[in-house]
Amino acid sequence: MNEAPSSVLAVVAHPDDLELHCGGTIAKWISKHNTQVTALVCTSGEKGNRRRREWHQFELGMIREREQMQAAAVLGIEKVIFLRYPDGGVPYDRAFKAQIAHLIRHYRPEAVLAHDPWRHYLIHPDHRNVGHSVADAIGLAREYDFMPVLDALEIPPFQPSKLFLCGSETPNHVEDISDFMEVKLRALRCYSSQFELRKGFEARIEKHAREVGRRIEADLGEAFRVISF
Ligand SMILES: [Zn+2]
Repeated sequence: MNEAPSSVLAVVAHPDDLELHCGGTIAKWISKHNTQVTALVCTSGEKGNRRRREWHQFELGMIREREQMQAAAVLGIEKVIFLRYPDGGVPYDRAFKAQIAHLIRHYRPEAVLAHDPWRHYLIHPDHRNVGHSVADAIGLAREYDFMPVLDALEIPPFQPSKLFLCGSETPNHVEDISDFMEVKLRALRCYSSQFELRKGFEARIEKHAREVGRRIEADLGEAFRVISF
């Protein structure tokens, strides 16, 4: 698949997930193909306190939202929506799925992007619950009668063409991000609350992208499991 989607709803658990998993791809789609990207960030990451004692959770949540907005601007993302579920407490329930389904019907994105919840031994409950909820929400968004309130409001069903899953063990698609590593790293540098103290962090990101890129004979890549509908 070489065509970039014209619009994307990207649903991630925490500030920085999007940049880590698919920052190069998002930057490429926006700058080369004018893709309209909306990011739905389900928590504010307030428990990601790598410098213990320094911040109260409420303060860190605000810091990380600010970092997310800066990183989104670097990538060219137009809109970021924070759902502000508790970090570590993203639910897997009807109300959460309905919020995502509502946004899918509203924005009518050609592609939806999320964490791959079918990865074995995926310990982080937020990543798992976001992935499963997004998959279920696509089902709610595309059928009449599954969302009676939206039907009553005349927000018609919509089915995206593709679901891109990040962090998959069984990827079937690699995006060539050779020209977009610099912007990905620039976006990640916005997260000084998270990455400043990690030695060799950028080198590890590049090394991983180099390994992924090899699958399509590109210098650098990001991998996805793509489900087409
Ligand atoms: Zn995360």
